[in-house]
Amino acid sequence: MTFQNLGLAAELLKAIEQTGYTTPTPVQMQAIPAAIAGADLLVSSHTGSGKTAAFTLPSLHKIIDRRPAPGAGPRVLVLTPTRELAQQVEKAVQTYGKALRWLNTACLVGGAPMFAQVKQLQRQCDVVVATPGRLLDHLNRRKIKLSDVEVLILDEADRMLDMGFAEDIDAIVAATPAKRQTLLFSATLDGVVGSMAARMTRNPQRIEIEVAKENRGQIEQRLMFADDMGHKSRLLEALLGTDDLQQAVVFTATKKSADELSLSLQEKGFAAAALHGDMHQTQRNRTLDRLRQGRIGVLVATDVAARGIDVAGISHVINFDPPRQAEDYVHRIGRTGRAGRDGIAITLSGPRETGLIRAIERFTGDRLAVHTIPGMEPSPRKPAGPRPAGNGGRRFGSGGGGGYGRPGGEGRRSGGGFGRDSQPSGRGERGYGDRRERGSRG
Ligand code: AMP
Repeated sequence: MTFQNLGLAAELLKAIEQTGYTTPTPVQMQAIPAAIAGADLLVSSHTGSGKTAAFTLPSLHKIIDRRPAPGAGPRVLVLTPTRELAQQVEKAVQTYGKALRWLNTACLVGGAPMFAQVKQLQRQCDVVVATPGRLLDHLNRRKIKLSDVEVLILDEADRMLDMGFAEDIDAIVAATPAKRQTLLFSATLDGVVGSMAARMTRNPQRIEIEVAKENRGQIEQRLMFADDMGHKSRLLEALLGTDDLQQAVVFTATKKSADELSLSLQEKGFAAAALHGDMHQTQRNRTLDRLRQGRIGVLVATDVAARGIDVAGISHVINFDPPRQAEDYVHRIGRTGRAGRDGIAITLSGPRETGLIRAIERFTGDRLAVHTIPGMEPSPRKPAGPRPAGNGGRRFGSGGGGGYGRPGGEGRRSGGGFGRDSQPSGRGERGYGDRRERGSRG
């Protein structure tokens, strides 16, 4: 299959040729002809799949016969979750629309002066790329009209919903004509994304693109037991000090604990920052930008805020609080192992959290390999009850290695164990068999 087979206009094929692409990616092969045929689309695809071109090319194809009407609003509208993504999409529109000399674009995102954007909107804009909050601001101030929109694109719809944009999106969509074409792209089409899609599309065609296996890194999953919060904090600091750690996302159960933990890590000298739903959108974008630039080493986040983060440098995910919902575990650990790299996911479990660990293991169908840091092992304690069958009797804090439960002392920066990687506890009675060496991979 070549781009020539997709039914795109000659001007667009010329631009594609100039970019050097020879073969359409799977999402482009499926989405471009379907969008040109006029269908609404629900597409599950990931960053790196070529999705931007998959929606940009058919949209430009649709407006290729420019009909300049004085005072008309944009014909193509793209909504994206973040400023950075909006800027990338606008750039792609300009690249693929290079041969359309008349093409005007505008990028309406938070964190940039309103005035300059209003000025841009005073000329005719064919394509507008925007984040929902800022676009709604312009709409409410009557600086833009959306009644000429022919194609509405929701890019990374799941992230937009996770970031709390549902109401803004509804208000924006209500201002566009009902007869528009809607193309929705999202990592997942389940749950809330599915219900939003049902509201906004008509007889949509569903296109699901599998993530290429080679793009999925291996994620080694580890479990570490802690006696109490103090012990957890010391384990966390030790883990964050390991050599192989590039960047980490640390998950907490609440927004308040994300703030507190981030502050406490900052005080200890870590380049830490919090990310949660109570933060203003521009603040969250700034934090994510800094994470991508590598200026943040440790992001302390809540489940919802961290959904969809795709930063190749995240080598570790640490569940400071285990997730309350087992399915969140999978979303959390998926923040590492990006862009084909391997990752490590470590879950810290306090004495009262073993039930959550069992729920995770039941959900994933995989045992988490128990690791310890020399000198920071959990105290021996009364067994919290037998592990489910087949586990070889693994128990919370069981086993009696030397130095267990030594009061204080261990775990300070000067003590042994810091800066070193954790080790599988490898206690025979836990019955890990061949998984003892490296832990389970998933
Ligand atoms: P995206 O998934 O839209 O973020 O695109 C990921 C990267 O793939 C971007 O850098 C694009 O420039 C590039 N790309 C998109 N389509 C193709 C293609 N057909 N062949 C090669 N590279 C592509």
